[in-house]
Amino acid sequence: MIIIKEALALSNLLKKRHPGNQHIGFVPTMGALHDGHISLVKQCKLENDITVSSIFVNPTQFNNPADFEKYPITIESDIDKLEAAGCDILFLPSVTEIYPPGKPTLHYELGYLETVLEGHYRPGHFQGVCMVVDKLLSIVQPTVLYLGQKDYQQCMVISKLVELKNFNTAIRISETIRETDGLAMSSRNVRLNEQERIQALFIYKAMIMVKNEMKPGKLGALKEKATRFLTEHGFKVDYVDIADASNLALINDWDGRQKAVVLVAAYLHEVRLIDNLILN
Ligand code: AMP
Repeated sequence: MIIIKEALALSNLLKKRHPGNQHIGFVPTMGALHDGHISLVKQCKLENDITVSSIFVNPTQFNNPADFEKYPITIESDIDKLEAAGCDILFLPSVTEIYPPGKPTLHYELGYLETVLEGHYRPGHFQGVCMVVDKLLSIVQPTVLYLGQKDYQQCMVISKLVELKNFNTAIRISETIRETDGLAMSSRNVRLNEQERIQALFIYKAMIMVKNEMKPGKLGALKEKATRFLTEHGFKVDYVDIADASNLALINDWDGRQKAVVLVAAYLHEVRLIDNLILN
């Protein structure tokens, strides 16, 4: 695996070694890699001529400075895992490489998507996501971009970015990889202590409860029940909500046919976890 730290060096290498007819697959990450990330890399490898991954803990997407400071960094083992998965190129830029001083900050018109759920609870977060993904896509110019369903709203935001900026890139969304007990793999899980790790599973249990108990009609009581269930298990809940799976319009009254997704964000002490599950 080639490790490259400079954007220009990466785009030159890709142009020189991989002319237009080759498929470049790209898996952007913030590191602290787990099997969820690696499944994306493996999928990418199967479907492309060249697999590029990036590790960059993007400061502009952290609305909470403490969350940024405590974000786990495990670069040596990340490199080993990417090598083992057959990644061809790792892009490992510095902050100034991605955000050269003096460059103006762009604003992305994300509309409704930025006003709900993660957009509401993490102001500015999706602008930061768009800034970094815009930059990364301009450098790598991938044929296919690999994203995880674990970050459901982020997948929609990035699809919108690709549309807004006319990137010639297809998006492939892979299912959430879970621990054997159901907890979604996440870089933030390493910050959970033993007790919190046991509690964390209740997010998955709450979503399964919603899936099992959802019936056509008003959903308010079910959302409240799931929120209470999490609160009783020690969470501080940002939201448990049910939305249209295609556009994230919140559903209060379900017709029994509309394709729906339950989305959860909740804290165990300092650690904020998110997850989601398609309901029908
Ligand atoms: P992150 O490093 O958290 O920014 O995630 C990088 C990519 O991996 C994103 O597209 C995530 O949605 C995806 N991802 C994170 N966790 C998982 C998981 N448990 N299963 C599948 N994909 C994941």
